[in-house]
Order: sequence, then structure tokens, then C-alpha cells
Amino acid sequence: MRIVFIGPPGAGKGTHAERIVQSYRLAHLSTGDMLRAARDARTEVGLAADKYMSSGQLVPDDVIVAIIGARLLEPDCRPGYLLDGFPRTIAQAEALDQMLTRQGTPLDTVLELAVPEDELFKRLAGRGRADDKPEVIRQRLVAYRNQTAPLLDYYRKAGLLSSIDGLGTVEEIFQRIRTVLDPISLGS
Ligand code: ADP
Repeated sequence: MRIVFIGPPGAGKGTHAERIVQSYRLAHLSTGDMLRAARDARTEVGLAADKYMSSGQLVPDDVIVAIIGARLLEPDCRPGYLLDGFPRTIAQAEALDQMLTRQGTPLDTVLELAVPEDELFKRLAGRGRADDKPEVIRQRLVAYRNQTAPLLDYYRKAGLLSSIDGLGTVEEIFQRIRTVLDPISLGS
């Protein structure tokens, strides 16, 4: 299974991404984790990306597309993967489409974890990560609304979008995700 997982910051995407990759045995491709690792290792890409991350802005498309393009060719991606945090712009989605078309490996589904914005702000303010300062949180929510939310229409038009209600207990939400993924995983 090849899945894209989309959701605003604070939706609980990280928690559910972990569960999805374990249950369905998928490679977990989190661009946030990759960029933080690159930053902590003080690579050139990581240090350049840090400027954007620490202010809540998106890293430039060409940087992240190059990282993901290389990652998708690694052997652990062959049985399937969950893309977590990528694509985040229409340009990234188009670049992904091109890569996957070239490889003959189309996406199976796009999951949206939907949570209202006032609830997101409450959750993020209580979390305490370095990029969780109120002003940075606001900027990340703005980046989601302006740059990432348009992807929902893009994938809806492609017939790939499944929206999951992200309010409820972790168990309840994961059950909703299963309802979407089980038929796909059984069919493949
Ligand atoms: P969030 O908690 O907002 O879901 P992530 O951990 O996914 O955040 O990403 C943290 C930061 O890394 C983002 O705010 C952004 O600066 C950068 N980033 C991650 N993925 C991408 C991407 N696909 N395109 C551009 N920037 C990205």
C-alpha cells in the first residue's frame, strides 16, 4: 500500500502514523523527522532547513522533493509506505505524481485527519516542542491553511481522498482509519 497522510499540525498525525505503519507493515516516511535528523546532524541541508522550520514556514519544494525522491528508491519502500508530512504543497504533489507515474507505482489512497482549527491551537499550545511557540504555531497553521489544505481538493478530484474525523479517542480514530485501509490492504 502506498498512502499519503495529510493533517494539520496538532491533528494527531504522528500518533496514528506510528500505528498505521506497524499494523500494515509499511515504511514510515516522515519529512518532519527527516528534516529534524538532518538539522541535528548539522548537514548542509539540515542547517538550511532549520531557518524555515524554526519560524513555522515550509522548506522550499525543491529541497524536500529531492529528499523524498531519493528515499522512495530505497528497498524498504517497495512493499509500501506511508508518506507523513509530504506532499505539503500542490507543487510537491505534482512532483510526487510524476515520480510515481515514472515508476509505475500509483498511490492507493490519501488519508486526511480532520480537526477544527480552534482545537488544534489548544492541543499545540500544550505540547512544548521547540517550534511550538505561539507565534510559530500560528504560522504553521497559516501555512497549512494556505499551502496544504488546497491538496485536499487536488486529491478529491483524483478520487483518492478519504477524510477521517480526528476528534475522539485514539482507539476510535484508528478504527475509522482501519475502515478505509483494511479493504485496500486485503485487495492487494
Ligand atoms: P507538524 O508538527 O507541523 O506536522 P512536521 O514535523 O511534519 O510538522 O514538520 C516540521 C517542519 O518541517 C514544518 O513546519 C516545515 O518547516 C518542515 N517540513 C516538513 N515537511 C515538509 C514539506 N513536505 N515541505 C516543506 N516543509 C516541510
